[in-house]
Amino acid sequence: MPIQSIDPTTGQQLQDFSPIDDAALEAAIASAASAVAPWTARPIAERAAQLRAVAARLRERRGELARTITQEMGKLIGEAESEIEKCALVCDYYADEGERLLADIPIDSDASRSYLAHQPLGVLLAVMPWNFPFWQVFRCAAPALMAGNTLLLKHASNVPRCALAIEAVFRESGLPDGGFKTLLIESGRVEQVLADPRVRGVSLTGSEAAGRQVAATAGRYLKKSLLELGGSDACVILEDADLDEAVKTALRSRFINAGQSCIAAKRIIPVRAIADDLVARLREAVQGLQPGDPLAPHTTLAPMAREDLRDELHQQVQDSLAAGAELLIGGQPLDRSGWFYEPTLLDKVGPGMPAYEEELFGPVAVVIRAEDEADALRIANDSRFGLGGSVWTRDQARGERFARAMACGAAFVNGLVKSDPRLPFGGIKDSGYGRELGAPGIQEFLNAKTLWIG
Ligand code: NAP
Repeated sequence: MPIQSIDPTTGQQLQDFSPIDDAALEAAIASAASAVAPWTARPIAERAAQLRAVAARLRERRGELARTITQEMGKLIGEAESEIEKCALVCDYYADEGERLLADIPIDSDASRSYLAHQPLGVLLAVMPWNFPFWQVFRCAAPALMAGNTLLLKHASNVPRCALAIEAVFRESGLPDGGFKTLLIESGRVEQVLADPRVRGVSLTGSEAAGRQVAATAGRYLKKSLLELGGSDACVILEDADLDEAVKTALRSRFINAGQSCIAAKRIIPVRAIADDLVARLREAVQGLQPGDPLAPHTTLAPMAREDLRDELHQQVQDSLAAGAELLIGGQPLDRSGWFYEPTLLDKVGPGMPAYEEELFGPVAVVIRAEDEADALRIANDSRFGLGGSVWTRDQARGERFARAMACGAAFVNGLVKSDPRLPFGGIKDSGYGRELGAPGIQEFLNAKTLWIG
């Protein structure tokens, strides 16, 4: 894919970028590698102070960075501003917790003293998607840098301005040269980076196809890998749920970021007793969404990020309808410039349809009707994916039992599935492996080193 900035609201090209050549790539890797030792040698408190400076810089430049996001991948400006703030929060979190998370852990053994020390792996490669172009990078970078690693970023080809702006934030906040580098390269050159012995691991957030490819490459070169891939989260609504809250949250979850969120409520699963009522409410809510200019404050539905992604979504909708799904609203690209898709609601979705089996990455709400609680759990777990999930019931104990039985990496009772710097995040099955955020998030790229002193 060419490295290009195109405004999804108008479809107009903003800027074209040339990929860096091999000499520049070599210089970037060399710089990241030589930065590891001095960066690791700094006291933890100093690295924490550096992360706080990054957070401060993000907050200073919030409005302008948010506009860069909106112009380049189309999300609503308010959502872009919240994204920048969340990046600052994850820097604050690891700055506050670094000392505790990286402390030695004493272990009793036959030694006079033995313990676990946490040491960085070295240079890491982050391969990142465009949908949360700042957040995905920062949730990887904050713990990696806190731990003493340095980072190379290969960002998605449609967000080069974001990629360069992120590098600038780190530079302007005083991170030593080589601590964080953006590589403007095509995906075909990821292997070249991973093959380099100075690069010790890769964190990829993106599609299942990219995950399989990068994990295979990482395996070939024996590099540690972490994969945050697609999802098709179930949102189960039981008969005793607060339907007002459930509908409000399901709508937000499904249509935030124009439906392009990995943890969106992609399969809404009501039990029979409330299904008609739920669908009627959902239909009214979806009808109320206002597509338009994402920079305008009254807009509630943004364009999709790329034309090919909209085409793919439309095909999935068409194929689901051909296979028997019922179209309640929408179902077409919007007749205007930019990559808008009508807010869409599909009912009576079932096995064999793309809306049941695949990830729908756009503004399409999907209802799969269940008989009862047991049937809803069966459907919720009948997916290749296992990222997040939610259940709605007024009975908290029932909700907790249900959530524990859901096959996913994070299950929420009566709440929006969301990421939070304090809570580990990641998937099972085809949603990937490894965890970001919280304590596990910093451990992924550490050498948990045993010390035995006789
Ligand atoms: P994508 O096409 O897989 O791209 C993600 C990144 O991988 C981009 O930097 C891309 O570069 C690179 N890439 C693609 N194919 C590659 C290959 N064969 N080898 C090496 N690198 C490759 O995904 P996307 O469309 O940007 O993002 C949407 C997907 O990400 C959805 O499935 C979504 O659910 C998932 N996602 C998951 C999470 C999570 O936390 N689990 C969070 C957000 C998004 P190019 O742009 O140059 O192709």
